[in-house]
Amino acid sequence: MTRQIPVAKPLLDELEVEAVRRVVLSGWVTQGPEVAAFESEFAALIGTPHACAVSNCTTALHLALLALGVGAGDEVITVSHSFVATANAIRYCGAVPVFVDIEADGFNIDPELIEPAITARTRAILCVHQLGMPCDLRQIVGIGKRHAIPVIEDAACAIGSEILWDGQWEKAGRPRGDIACFSFHPRKVVTTGDGGMLTTANSEYDRKFRLWRQHGMSVPDTVRHGSREVIYESYPELGFNYRMTDLQAALGRGQLQRLGNIVAARRRLAAQYAERLQGIAGVVPPVEPDWARSNWQSYCVQLPRGVDQRGVMQALLDRGVSTRRGIMNSHLEHAYEQPGAYRSGSGLQRSVMAQRSTIILPLYAQMTESELDFVVDTFTDVLDQPDRHRAAG
Ligand SMILES: *Cc1c(COP(=O)(O)O)cnc(C)c1O
Repeated sequence: MTRQIPVAKPLLDELEVEAVRRVVLSGWVTQGPEVAAFESEFAALIGTPHACAVSNCTTALHLALLALGVGAGDEVITVSHSFVATANAIRYCGAVPVFVDIEADGFNIDPELIEPAITARTRAILCVHQLGMPCDLRQIVGIGKRHAIPVIEDAACAIGSEILWDGQWEKAGRPRGDIACFSFHPRKVVTTGDGGMLTTANSEYDRKFRLWRQHGMSVPDTVRHGSREVIYESYPELGFNYRMTDLQAALGRGQLQRLGNIVAARRRLAAQYAERLQGIAGVVPPVEPDWARSNWQSYCVQLPRGVDQRGVMQALLDRGVSTRRGIMNSHLEHAYEQPGAYRSGSGLQRSVMAQRSTIILPLYAQMTESELDFVVDTFTDVLDQPDRHRAAG
């Protein structure tokens, strides 16, 4: 048996090839008409007045924090239990991430821990829709409003996820918080190779994003190019090169056409996992609250108590099933060791436990039922081996 099931796989074919071909032959390959079209199609899909494309979600988070005025000595409340980019973006601003723990029954920030972590220096709350599962935004936005602290959503994984507001399902990133940031890395639900998007209802923030993503240049290339008069640009503010290329945007436009089908397929597969995993003692599938619809960017399960995580993952890999360990914790990494790199806003026991005791199972839109069965059967078999129970690493 040589079957190898990857943990994730982007869905790309001739549609995207044709899109990129069109751009190559057009002669305009960076931040131009395709980026503008991608932004307006994305905005329509999410239901947001503004969408600004950038080079990736990390740069999107950086610009979002800067737009809120986050700077040296400020604090931003977030989770350690996330991809390292979430906390890194706070440090790029010279600010301090204040880490609070996750909920008991999921991988998202515990809203109850936010208020006690607020100080006079708190400048923002940066919540994450982890693995595509919406965090409790209603409660978090409420806390933000009470304390006049803006909320940024790290929606890197959450394209196509939905949240119930006043009886209506809305796409994550439709402005309820102040700014939301998306990723189009291949490990996410749709991809542009690399890429990011900022959504907001605030036109002043949007203006800043557009200025800063292109070196702080007063006049974008597209305007100078189309002008019949000579224009001299100026640089009123310190900017960055955080542009998205037109090649990426064209790819993204193709991917957006597929988003509905991709999310539907992922939700079907997740439902099958939930059903089939009931048969494995001690394995706890992820829970979807009744006000959330996950895009299931990742399917992360709790291993039975006392089972050796690395051993299980290796045995699965040996038998053709790729997995990943649970989400990392930034505060446990060497890059966060130096004094002042972060502050703990609560105990972080659940975050640490989740990293050690969960694994991410394969899930991608093209996955067949027989592949899913193979994963579950192999997982069952591996957990049945008598030597599985070693000290949890
Ligand atoms: C992937 C990811 C990011 C970073 O996205 P890039 O586009 O790779 O910069 C940030 N936050 C979370 C939660 C992510 O999963």
